[in-house]
Amino acid sequence: MSETKTAPESGTSRHFVSQLIADDVAAARNGGAVVTRFPPEPNGYLHIGHAKAITIDFGMAKEFGGRCHLRMDDTNPAKESDEYVESIKTDVRWLGYDWGDNFYYSANLFEQMYAMAEELCRRGHAYVCELTQEQWKEYRGIPTLPGRASPFRDRTPEENLALLRRMRAGEFADGTLCLRAKIDMASPNIHFRDPVLYRIMRVAHYHTHDRWCIYPMYDFAHPIEDALEGITHSLCTLEFEVHRPLYDWVIDRMDEMGLLVVREGHKIRPIQREFARLSLTYTIMSKRLLLQLVQEKRVAGWDDPRMPTICGLRRRGYTPEAIREFCERIGVSKYNSETDVALLEYCLRDHLNKIAVRRMAVLDPVKVVIDNYPEGQEETFEAQNNPEDPNAGTHPVPFSRELYIERDDFMEVPAKKFFRLAPGQEVRLRYACLLTCTQVEKDDTGRITVIHGTYDPHSRGGHAPDGRKVKGTIHWVSVRHAQPVPVRLYDRLFTVPAPLADESKSFLDFLNPNALQTITGYVEPALAAAAPGERFQFERIGYFCADTRDSVPGAPVFNRTVTLRDSWSKVAAQ
Ligand code: ATP
Ligand code: MG
Repeated sequence: MSETKTAPESGTSRHFVSQLIADDVAAARNGGAVVTRFPPEPNGYLHIGHAKAITIDFGMAKEFGGRCHLRMDDTNPAKESDEYVESIKTDVRWLGYDWGDNFYYSANLFEQMYAMAEELCRRGHAYVCELTQEQWKEYRGIPTLPGRASPFRDRTPEENLALLRRMRAGEFADGTLCLRAKIDMASPNIHFRDPVLYRIMRVAHYHTHDRWCIYPMYDFAHPIEDALEGITHSLCTLEFEVHRPLYDWVIDRMDEMGLLVVREGHKIRPIQREFARLSLTYTIMSKRLLLQLVQEKRVAGWDDPRMPTICGLRRRGYTPEAIREFCERIGVSKYNSETDVALLEYCLRDHLNKIAVRRMAVLDPVKVVIDNYPEGQEETFEAQNNPEDPNAGTHPVPFSRELYIERDDFMEVPAKKFFRLAPGQEVRLRYACLLTCTQVEKDDTGRITVIHGTYDPHSRGGHAPDGRKVKGTIHWVSVRHAQPVPVRLYDRLFTVPAPLADESKSFLDFLNPNALQTITGYVEPALAAAAPGERFQFERIGYFCADTRDSVPGAPVFNRTVTLRDSWSKVAAQ
């Protein structure tokens, strides 16, 4: 777990972003106010990496008594849609965050952004350039050598203004002209070398439709959005660090134009701060590649329980608490590193252990016949709903002469330290009684078909009447009462920790073909009533939840959320 070292010691130390904000507040920058935003582009579903940004953005607002906006950063029309907008709202809410009335669309600012572009032309800070994209790149040069000025750099403000208006009016073809900031072609920061502010793009926008044929670039739009919303701290991932001087340049121009918001007498000047993005082993975290998996039907959709999307994790059975705890533990650092997905799974188990109801299910059954238990008789035993929760109570589990147990809970020739069922060996049937194996039946291939045994009638509840030690405890389901249900055994989506590391290969080459295996499980009757989304621990197996899409009342489909380390075959009878 590579990043656990950065985890704060429960409230005693601030992470560096928190410290920077604390310094700003102490220095009364922006009047000491803290307003943050989470600004996803609605071009895909949110993933676990976004959860990190969300917990930081909303977390900082909360820590400093401020507020956090939710903003659709929708200035790039190509791949945006309302489906994504709705999914983002759902996911942020599910994670436990509330933006109140502060929901915004960047596209609603297109008119202000354009007005500012005109003003930059008037003030000599921007010009319309006719270099092709290739020429533009060549003129821009490389960081160690100064770039060359565009031949269009010295147009008069009037010329630029007229051309910009004609760009907007649709007089030029896509990609021919662009508006560029006039900053410094010799700057060592390549983003300062007259960056493009607007480009011509005849693509319909999901909200503004075909009203615009020119669209602002991210580096121009983002600081304007922040400033006009009165954001004080614009928190983003490290790749934007080199863009920060340009961010500040745009804010400076807005300041000169009197465009900054004034709140309670303080002019609000947003400050950009960067933190390391989350990268997880056995996972990819790019919306573009996740979209590819969906489009090529390599998974069953954005909410496929194998996906690292928030909706995929939710459907898999993750809890928001587990995700927030994970984000807390990884901390916030300034160095990119890889986090072990095992840490996420650990946080999940830790939370599910506290809240998940216990039930018995047998996923790889072999039949046991208790020869000294009367045929036709049945009885019920009380099983604990959750030993971690004293108030969770118990529920009845039916018992009869024929049971299913897990095939691997039996060994004909027991290995050393195998304390479960074996010929002549006694085991505890969880909550029920003690059982000794007497003999087995096999088919022609030598596969065991039935295990015979006798039970101790004086061991009700699984307690040995004479206090003799019975080391192994196994779970079971009564054959007559068992409900067969589809169970989906999910595993990691990729077979290697870093599916993108080998550039000579496609990440698709590392898809785990066994990431989904569907089997029939036999579950105790109480599980038949599972509500969609309800979470359980199948005793000794793992955590499962009833699938929200495919379960119907009385006929649940179970997803394996995460496996359980089997530590309790040694646990004493309850
Ligand atoms: P992707 O690379 O997956 O397409 P993105 O950065 O383009 O992601 P946005 O919708 O622009 O996606 O992201 C919204 C916010 O979430 C940004 O502030 C971005 O920095 C942050 N974010 C995105 N991915 C991660 C990540 N892996 N870890 C932390 N924050 C992230
Ligand atoms: Mg982005």
